This record gives sequence, C-alpha cells and structure tokens, in this order.
Amino acid sequence: MQETTRTMRPWTREELGLRPFIVIYEVTRACNLACVHCRAEAQPHPHPLELRTHESLRLLDEIAELHPATLVLTGGDPLLRADLETLIRHAVAADVRVAITPSVTRRVTKSAMMNLKTWGITQIAFSLDGASAVVHDDFRKVPGTFERTLQALRWAREAGLPLQINTTVTTMTAAELPGIARIVEEFGVQLWSVFFAVPTGRATQDSMLSAAEHERLFIYLADMSQQVPFGIKATAAPAYRRVLLQRGISGIQGKLAVGPGRAPIPINDGLGFVFISHIGEVYPNGLFPLSMGNVRIDTLASVYRDHPLMQSLRDPQQLRGKCGVCEFRTICGGSRARAYAVFGDPLASDPACAYIPPAYAAHVEEDGQGRTPTFSSSAISAPGRQQTVQATTGVMVMALGTPDGPDDIEAYYTRMRGGRVPTPALLSDLRHRYAAIGGRSPLLAHTHAQALGLQAALDQIEPGRYHVTIGMQHSRPFIEESVKELVKSGVQSIVGLVLAPHYSSLSVGVYRRRLTDAGESLLPVSVIEHWHLEPGYLQFLETALQATLDTMTRNHHLSADKIEVVFTAHSLPSRILDLHDPYPEQMRETAEAVAHSIKLPRWSLAWQSAGRTAEPWIGPALLDVIAELPDRGVEGVIVCAAGFVSDHLEILYDLDLEARQTAQRFGLAFARTAMPNNDPGFLAALASAVHRHSEGDGE
Ligand code: SF4
Repeated sequence: MQETTRTMRPWTREELGLRPFIVIYEVTRACNLACVHCRAEAQPHPHPLELRTHESLRLLDEIAELHPATLVLTGGDPLLRADLETLIRHAVAADVRVAITPSVTRRVTKSAMMNLKTWGITQIAFSLDGASAVVHDDFRKVPGTFERTLQALRWAREAGLPLQINTTVTTMTAAELPGIARIVEEFGVQLWSVFFAVPTGRATQDSMLSAAEHERLFIYLADMSQQVPFGIKATAAPAYRRVLLQRGISGIQGKLAVGPGRAPIPINDGLGFVFISHIGEVYPNGLFPLSMGNVRIDTLASVYRDHPLMQSLRDPQQLRGKCGVCEFRTICGGSRARAYAVFGDPLASDPACAYIPPAYAAHVEEDGQGRTPTFSSSAISAPGRQQTVQATTGVMVMALGTPDGPDDIEAYYTRMRGGRVPTPALLSDLRHRYAAIGGRSPLLAHTHAQALGLQAALDQIEPGRYHVTIGMQHSRPFIEESVKELVKSGVQSIVGLVLAPHYSSLSVGVYRRRLTDAGESLLPVSVIEHWHLEPGYLQFLETALQATLDTMTRNHHLSADKIEVVFTAHSLPSRILDLHDPYPEQMRETAEAVAHSIKLPRWSLAWQSAGRTAEPWIGPALLDVIAELPDRGVEGVIVCAAGFVSDHLEILYDLDLEARQTAQRFGLAFARTAMPNNDPGFLAALASAVHRHSEGDGE
C-alpha cells in the first residue's frame, strides 16, 4: 500500500531531485552495428567488466525503489544480453514500466517481438535516421538496415508493442525529417524522439547543426506537433521547450506531454534523468561522459541525489553564460551534455540555442566589448551561491586532465609528451588501459565535483570572497583559458591549488609555471606548493586506511601484522633526486604521520605508474614490492595511494587491475583505500589551506 502511495506521488521539481523520472540502463555495449554517430562507441563483444546478472538484478531493485516513470533498457544491443528475459521479468515484477531500444539486426524477429511483449515490455524504440535506405543504411553502416527497421516496426506493432522512433539529427540527416515524419505517421508510431546530436562518442562537432539551424528545426517540429497524431519529443534539446512556449503551444513537449512515460514537468541531464553504463558507471545522461559514481560501490540513489555535480546540474541558479541569466532557464536550462562536450564546462551555455536572453544582451552591451564579466563560462558555483557576488580572490584548481574519449587518446598523450606522438605500441597499450576501465577516466568529473565542494567550503569560511575554477594541464579547460575567465570575472588575484599533495619541480612546479606565465602580467598569482600534512587530508587517509584494514582482517582472517600497508605516489624521473626535490621526503612524511596515528604494525613506501621512457624513474616500483612480500611472511597487502586525490586511470587500472592481479599471482589478499574524491572533510581541508595561503600564512 505504501508503495502505491509513493508511485502516485506527483512529479514536482523537488521530487525530481530525489528520484529520476527516466532511468536508462545500458545493459551491454556489445552491438553488431557500427553507426557513425554512436554514443556508446559500441563493440562487437561484451566488456569483461559488464555488470553480471546478479549485479544487474540488484541494480534493478534499486531502480524499482526509486519508482521512476520509465526504465529504458538500451545498449549496444540489449538483445545480445543472454539474461535479458530474467532482467525484464525482474523489473516488471517490481512494478517498473520497462521500455527497450534494440538494434535492428537479424535478432529482431517476429518471435523476438512477441517474447518482449510477453515478458512485459511496454514500449519499443527503433532508430530511423533517414527516409530512404540510401541515407539510413549509410548512417548505420550496414546495408539492408532500413528495410529491416520497417519490418521490425511491423512485427512490433503486430505483437502489440507501443512504438517509438528515434531519429538522430546531424548535418547528414536534418533534411530527412519530413520524410521520416511520414513514416512515423504511416506506421502508427506513438512517439517520435528527435535527438539533436551532441558531439561525444563517435559524433563530431562537424556533424552538429548550427544554433540557427537548431532554431529552424525547433520551430518546424513545434508547428508540426499541432498537426500530427503522434507525440514529438526533442531529445538533448531542452531549448525546444522554450520554442513551444514562445509559440504559445501548451504543455511542455507539445500536446502529448502527459502520455505514458512523458515528463509532466521539464527534465534535463541529472534532473529527472540518469544513465547507468554497462559497467555500472552513473552519468547524468549517456551523452555526458562525466561519471558520478559506480553502482558496484555506491547506491544509485545516493549518487543521483547527493553528487555535487548532479546537484549543480539541477540548480538553474548555477548555470553560466546566457543560460545563467535566461528567463527560460527553469523550464529549459540548455543541454548540459552539449555544453560539456563543446566547452568542457557542464554549466556553460548550450551552443545549440540561438536565443539571446534580454538580460544577457543588456549585460554584453554594458560591457561594451562583448565580454561578460560576471557570467563566466568556467567558474564553479556552490549551491545557492549568487552569481553576481563580486569575488576578489580567484582559486584555480589544477589537475593533469584526461582524454575526451577513445578518439582523443593520441592527441592527449601527444600533448602530454610535449608534442611527441606516442609510438604505435605505446598508443595501443594506452587504448587498452582506457578500454579496461570503461573507455574514459572519471578524473574530470571528480575535479569538477572537488571544485564545487571547495567553493562551498570556502564560502563557509568567507562568503563571497572566493571564486573557484578549474584548469587542466593537458585537456580542456586549459589553465590558460581558465585564467582568462577568472580575469574577466573581475578577481584581483589568483591562488593556484594543484590536486597533488606533494611538491616536485616536475609536477607542482610545472603547474606553477603555466599559471604564472598565463596570469602574472595581469594580476598577482601565487601557488600553494604542498599540503601533504594538512590535518583534514591526513584524517581522511587514516579513516580510509583503518576501514580497509578492518575489512581485510575480518574477511581474510588475517592479523594486522600479516598485512603490509604500502603507501604510493606517482613515480617521477630519478633526476629529481639530483635536484634535491622534496617530493620523496614529503611523501615519507605523509606516510609516517598516518602510520604513526593509527599505529600500523608494518608499512612501506613504493612508487607506481612510472612512465615508459628510457630514463630511470624513482623506485621501488609497487609491483616489485608486492612480489617480494610473501618472502617476508606477509599474507595481505593494502595500497594507500596517498599521492593521488581521485579515482582515475592510475587508480582504476594500475591498482584495481594490475596491482590486484600481481597480488593474486603471489597469493596475497589485496585491497586499496578509498580515494578522497569529493569527501567534505577532505575538501574542507583544502579550503583551509587555500584560505591560510590567501591570508599570507600558507607556507
Ligand atoms: S539561453 Fe539557455 S536556458 Fe535560455 S533558452 Fe537558450 S538554452 Fe535554454
């Protein structure tokens, strides 16, 4: 009875902050097609880390508890999941409305459609991107797909499955819309989802329409929605809602706004919408490659409700650029995925929107030079913070950066190597590593979340004084771009904070040079050189380490003196030792402080993730240390990666896969401690370091 009451709870904006309206679960990334725009960059075989059946069932239980209006099973091709029937029946039994988006392959048969209906599927969506085989088959890269799609629609209709057609709008397919609309009507389709391409996955910026072309199509679709018997939904295009309102068309998405699974109030990335990848990563949208967590570790509800970036995405007060001052921002808000894909800033303006809000136009005029002093595109705002507060101290949170996706790996590593292209063998190894952690590193998402948390913590210390932004060394937003934004925002000085606790001339020193070169001719710039003994940071390490120790002693029946704790940081070229670089000594000080505080019986230091270059790197290397542990009577190893502050490639691959396998090969129990990521205590510690430094009391 209580469940029924929850299901019936009306969808309000507040409610969307607690539970998603639509949950998309990518049950597999395996697919036999190779479509040119594919978000998932689908592969012929399932990923080895794909969620197993028991993990998927647990996830479905979590989804059911959130009572979304619709769960969409997508891929890849969901029909390639051998346990699909089990998953669908499980969700349906838990009172979840389940839709599915199969790829049109030979697996789509009449009996497959009947099975889906029998198992409880309530809506089926097929992709149609051209009104003829010439365009559609070229787009899907498999001849015959157009005809097969029409046949699939017939079979699904015969099976009694309500139909949806998804159309991707790119420069290649925009002219096909009138012809596709005719097919949608002819086949009695209930809903046409017109998806405006976001340049992520295999889609490129060249394939994206201009803002003016988007506007023309929004108007075309809005007017069509008044004349056709099917519903029209614009996907990744919230500005369509603005056009509907401007044209006096009632409802949020047109006249069929209240149909099954249609949102009665505006939804957007992270606001009523959540996506879970085939390996359990949680995203605000499948087109938004910033992972907020993983359902193997976190609960879906906690990631959806509590992740700082999720919270920012659903707060219109935090939007920037013209979206930040637009009178339509509550019902529109712009595509956050596209803002991120194009500008590297999830809170920036949506480049697909042609509308100029009056408040924005006035502001640009006031400035006289087309600049926007208080509505910058990369500054971070904590929840509830007013954009118009004039901060005086800019804070640049700096990290290495990460490739945008598989296609960016070569360019990223070429930048990292000072313009030297990696060898084919090196590139192949890197690609393999990224593929093994799901294709992308979550580093940028963590950096954004850390900056948001830091802004909130600094606002607690001195409201309005600080203006936090992020700057990357090798990917967007680059340090130099962010310096320009900070200067435009009107701050009077910049404090640089590198997301690495220990100083080295080859790490923090490089960030300092980049920041100083970009900013010091414009305003005072300083950098916090190290924060390796900051009490809140040490406390985080102690708590995380104690928890991991307790788990290992309990689960493996090991006494603490049989467990070696190995503190690690990134290895650096050995020439830093000739320079009397403080890096190794500072790392030792961090490890000693933590080991002493929690009275570790045995611990050591090691260096991980050394570069593959000819020059020597500092050691001992972590994998060598692990290999020697059994000879010293050790039965379990815990790695505490104290030199890093978030989950990324060096943690998820080098420790969770490589170091773990090495430990298992030598018969050792293995664990690594949790990373700080956006832990509030850790971010309060960083805020304290920033504030002391700003007060001239830092080092
Ligand atoms: S400016 Fe932003 S919020 Fe306003 S209509 Fe355009 S995309 Fe939407």
